[in-house]
This record gives sequence, C-alpha cells and structure tokens, in this order.
Amino acid sequence: MGLLSLGTPLDWHESRKHNEHVRENGIEQLINIFKQHGERQNDHFYWGDEVEYMLVDIDSSNKTAKLAIDRDSILDDLNDPSKPEIAMKAINNNVSFHPEYGRYMIEATPLKPYDGESLSDYVYVEENMVKRREVSQSELPKHIIPLTLTTYPRMGCGNFTSPTAKPIGPASQSLFLPDEIINRHVRFPTLTANIRKRRGHKVAINLPIYPDTNTKLIDDSIPKRDLFPSDEEPWLGASQPGHVYMDSMGFGMGSSCLQITVQPSDIHEARYLYDTLAPLTPILMAVSAAAPIFKGFLVNQDVRWNVISGAVDDRTFLERDIKPYRGLDFFGGLDVPDEVKVHFDKLGGGPGVNGDHITNEFGDTTITTLDGKPVQKIPKSRYESIDSYLSDEGYRSDPYFKKSYNDIYSPINKKVYDKLISTKLFDAPLAHHFAHLFIRDPLVIFSERVNQNNNLDNDHFENLQSTNWQTLRFKPPALYSDIDDLTKTPGWRVEFRPLEIQLTDFENAAYSVFITLVSKAILKFSPDFYMPISKVDSNMKTAHGVDASTDAKFWFRNPSQWRLNNEDFKGYDLTWFDRFVNDGNDLFDDNVVYLNGYVEVNNGIENGIVEHEDCQNVKLTAQELIDGSDTFPGLIKMIVKLIATDLLPANWQNSSHHCKSRQFARDLELIRNYLKLISGRASGKIPTVARFLRNFVLKHPDYKQDSKVSERINYDLVQASVAITNLDFKHHQPLLEEYFGEEIASYLQTRTN
Ligand code: GLU
Ligand code: MG
Repeated sequence: MGLLSLGTPLDWHESRKHNEHVRENGIEQLINIFKQHGERQNDHFYWGDEVEYMLVDIDSSNKTAKLAIDRDSILDDLNDPSKPEIAMKAINNNVSFHPEYGRYMIEATPLKPYDGESLSDYVYVEENMVKRREVSQSELPKHIIPLTLTTYPRMGCGNFTSPTAKPIGPASQSLFLPDEIINRHVRFPTLTANIRKRRGHKVAINLPIYPDTNTKLIDDSIPKRDLFPSDEEPWLGASQPGHVYMDSMGFGMGSSCLQITVQPSDIHEARYLYDTLAPLTPILMAVSAAAPIFKGFLVNQDVRWNVISGAVDDRTFLERDIKPYRGLDFFGGLDVPDEVKVHFDKLGGGPGVNGDHITNEFGDTTITTLDGKPVQKIPKSRYESIDSYLSDEGYRSDPYFKKSYNDIYSPINKKVYDKLISTKLFDAPLAHHFAHLFIRDPLVIFSERVNQNNNLDNDHFENLQSTNWQTLRFKPPALYSDIDDLTKTPGWRVEFRPLEIQLTDFENAAYSVFITLVSKAILKFSPDFYMPISKVDSNMKTAHGVDASTDAKFWFRNPSQWRLNNEDFKGYDLTWFDRFVNDGNDLFDDNVVYLNGYVEVNNGIENGIVEHEDCQNVKLTAQELIDGSDTFPGLIKMIVKLIATDLLPANWQNSSHHCKSRQFARDLELIRNYLKLISGRASGKIPTVARFLRNFVLKHPDYKQDSKVSERINYDLVQASVAITNLDFKHHQPLLEEYFGEEIASYLQTRTN
C-alpha cells in the first residue's frame, strides 16, 4: 500500500509546512507525465493481481491462534540479493513479495505481469498464487501459516499476537491494538500517528453488532484507561451504543484484500474502462464478501470496506461537518492561526451553522490554512468509493458519458483544477478527478525527499495518488529519462480495489480472472453502464449488508440501454464450454455452433428487470447482472463470448469447431469453474466466505448466541481455514463441500487427485 521511501519521515507538525510544496510539485510531475505519455498508444493488455496474507501462529497444544508479529524478516530475506538462495526462490517462481501495513502481513504479486491476450496466462494465475504460498511457507516454521483471511476475527481482543504485546503504543494510542502490529518501516507508524494528529483525535469506527438471542448490544471490551488524553474519547462520543468500537488504523489497514490491475491500450481506453467498471465495484465487492467478524464480535455486515474507510479518516470535525467532542476544536491539526479559531467559535461555527462559511460550489469555507489552502467540507474519507467518472469523450466519437452522471458534491482543489485546465492537456472531467485527489494533505513526507526533479521523479504526485484509496485507481505511467522505448514501460492502468480476499488460491484466481476478463469484454463489446454516480454510492452502502450478494438489489443502468444486442450473446452461457469441449454434445449437425454461440438457452431467470424505478436505471440482483436473463446478456455471457471469439488459439478459430486437446479442455474446464464460482456466490448456490464464516460461528458448540467469537471458536475457525486453504479433502471433505458447494468441491477433488 503506497510508496516506501527510505529516510526520515516528518512528524505531522513539521510535515504540514510542506503540504503545498508537495501538491504544487506533484502537479508539475503529473503534467510532465501527461506530456511524456499522453499520446502513447497500442500498449499491450498486461495485467496483474495483488494478494495480501496474514501470518497466523497456531498453537495446537493450547488451542490458540495468534497473529505472528515477529516473522516480518522473511520479507527482507525474500528480497535480499545477498541471500540468493532465498531471494532466487521468489524470482525463479515468478513471484514478488512486498510489505503491507501489518507487521504480520505480507503481500505477493506475480513478478512479471500476465499476458491478457493469452488464455494460458489466465490458467497460470492460480499456479502462481500457489507458488507464493509455497515460497513464503518454506521460510516459515510449520506452525506459522500465511492465511488469506480478510480480517482477523480476534484482532484487538486481549492477547491476540505472538509474541504478546500491550496496547500502549504512542503511534496509534489504541485501547486495543499494540503499535507492535504495525510494520516496522518508519512510514507506517508515522502514517498512523499523522492521521490521528491531522484529524485532532483518534479514528473511530462503529459497526453494528449482529443481534442474536443472547446478545447484549454493548461493546463491553472498552477499557477505562488514563495513559493518553485520547483514552477518554469513547466516553465523549467516539463509541456508539449497540456497536463494536474500533479506534485505530490497524483495524482497517490490517485487513487483506485482492486487487487487480489491467493495462488497456491507451489513456482513452483506460478512462472508458474506469468508468464502466465503476458501477460494478459495489456489486462484486458484495459477491466477494468475507468479513463478518471484527474485534471478536459477529457484526451486522459482511465486508471490510467502511472499516478501512474509517480507519484512515484524517478529516477534522470541521471537514466532516460535525460537532467536536467536549474539549476539542473543529480544526484538529490544521495549520490555522489561533485568532481564526477563536473568531470561528464566536460565530458559533457548528454543524448546520457551518453552511454559512461555505463560499463556493467547491465547498471552500472562509477559513484557510497558513499555506493559503481553503479548509473545505469533505463528505468522504480518503479510503472511499470514487467521486466522479473520467468520461469516454476521447474514446468514442459519440460518447456515452453525460455531465449529469457526475451528480454528487465532490470538492476539488480549485488551484490545481485551474492549473491543469490551463495546460490544455486535461479536459474538465480529468482535471476534476486529479483536483479532487489533491484536496488531501500528504500524510508522510520524508525530509530527504522534499526537493525533487519534476522531470524525472513522481514521488510527490504518488504521495497524494497512493493515499487516495478509492474503489478504482486510475494509474498514470511514471516518468522516464530515456523516452526512446516507452513501449516497454508500464502505461495507463486501471486498478480494481474493492474485492475481499478469499481463503483459497482457486477462488482468488477466479475473482482475478473474472475481473480481467470482464475488463477485456468491456473493451471489446463497449457496453454503456453509465448511471449517476450517486447511485453507485448508494449501492456501496447496500453492498455492506449481510448476504447482500444474494439478497440485495442494486441500481444499475437498465439493460435495455446497455447498447448490447441480446441476440449476439445467445448460447454464450456456461453451457458453451460443454458443447465446445465435448464433441457431439449437442443436437445439431452444424458444428459451427460450438464456437459461435448456440440456440437460446433458458437459465431459469424469467425476466431480469426487477424494479422499474425509472426507465434509465433499474434494480438488479448480483445474479442478474452476472448471469444475465433471457432479455439481456450479463457479465458471464460477455466473458464466454470473448473467450470463444478472441482467446481461443487461432487454429481452433479457423479450422476445428471442437476442442481436440485434452490439456486445453482442462484449461477451459478450470475457467468454467471460476465462472461457476462467481455465479454460484451470486445465486446463493455457494455461500460467500462471509456467510460461511458466520455460519461456522453460529453453529460452533461453544457459541453462546451472544455474537461473541471466543478464543476457542477463533482457533477452530483458523484451523478450518487452513484445511480449506490446503484443499484438504482427505480429512475435511464435508467442510470443503459446504464451503465450495458440491459441484466445485467435486471438481477440485478430482483435479487434486
Ligand atoms: N489492505 C487494504 C484493503 O484491504 C488495501 C491496501 C492496499 O491498497 O494495498 O483494502
Ligand atoms: Mg496491498
């Protein structure tokens, strides 16, 4: 997560003096990036994934499972050229290891990007993910296991780390999380402290407790303590009744997720793709839901997103437009002169009254910080859903995008906006996008990196860019001194960020392949998925709900207005694989159908359109969007048609109508099972990880119907997770069948044998 510079990080009160310097130079760097790369074209469709792991220390004699916070040296070893026998394991297996926020976390990616034009690379992803676990495990003792749990169930409960550490750290001042869970690299404790210092108080996350028959709707785990002044905050309004209270960055950034980055051919494609993926972000997050437990409580939601959002929320009370706790002011750590603060207080600047201080449509108030930047009302945390579309104007002569789709109040840095527009390299939606990212302050500045060469460095730009953690990230290329062969350098990319991590490599590969194939299919078939961004935001809230994957309905553009012809996709559902792979498995003589779709197949969905709220936007379930109906294609048919028409090796596309190679049939079978998993999670045939984990707790013999996840339940849950991760059919067949559903379990079992 973000840029790791070596050097001396500045404390907030020192660092804030450089905020405007970083923004001004960051924007110069961005402009230089546009000058260097704005016109580049025909980049290859490469892509990659990022998987985040937690190292869990399992003690089977005492029946405990804890987060291992003393094994982070494996990351140094795996990246240390002076220890080639270790570092080469990663390189030879085409994997790369990276640090993450938690000292107990590692992140791993493929070393070289995958080739998105080659079907065999989609099939290879899982193998690469398996290697990542094998290589990291080979550097760990047997009882410490890299697990892909989205959240650690007992994070913040008593002694949850190995070795034990006390929650008395000055960086987070948390009542629950020791500073020893934070990555040792100086950037991370500084980030934690600077968020708190800028905000003026600790972050406060409140999640509704899952109400069970014996549940006391009270978080009884909050200690009374008198170590830091912030210890009082839960009693001043930070903790809400009926909610699990969390007070530290680690509760969010200590979670794990799955991110996928794709590289379309140029900036115009990237902008259209970014926009078209935006309405999918909440829905696919719901389908990946894996986080029903926080701080030892079952909660009444299924995903991590709003927790991280709260965990890095550095906004002051004024920016959030709410009344400060007793004894605190509106301004937090902002560099605002004391006289101004006093004057503001005299005017009675408070919620509701604050509107008077807003001077323009950008949400600027009359107050400025010492560097001249207006203090603004800011509706969202830095970790949130995207604020605006980028527009497809440069991509299509008859653009789908309309200004009215960017319909939420989205504050911008007006100075940055004007500057970008004045270069003529940025149109209004693009300038708005970056000017919105630049309303934020840099959180960590390294003293050695204050002065940079704006023609070669991009750290100041990346400082802001990489601490705006949104559902999608529009990623410009870096700056290069030798511009002769830019084609070999990474180009314009789009990162898909909302997905939760799944327990197995099979699932993580499935979601990664799904998102990438959807992206490719979007670029091939050009659907119009635009709808007002306010509806995407409303879906984001819906997507947090328990079982939203199966039970919720999400706003989506009316499929009749996707500009796709349903007829073109007939037969490209999951049955296509069967017909293509199994020679003779159809009723027709004309073999062309094997490659090119099929006659109408009824998948059982009567009519996809559920609620006609207005004609442009309707409400769909995740299943309708993914499987389609008999009146519109859905994502899977787009993917299957893409495979059949673009990704099959050329000799099949031209000559044979059937798959004649056993290996290739196996490859297709794998991809079919990936698609089946996603479809099954949306239809309810297969539980989401969140549903599985919730059921595991609810059915556990030690569970007391009080929404609490005890140390023993946590241990058993971790053990079950290990069995699932290892696809241990030999000892845990029923568990794996429950987790995957029978069909996929049986596929995986035969595949493993
Ligand atoms: N771990 C974070 C999450 O669960 C993402 C951090 C990153 O951007 O790499 O969303
Ligand atoms: Mg990461």
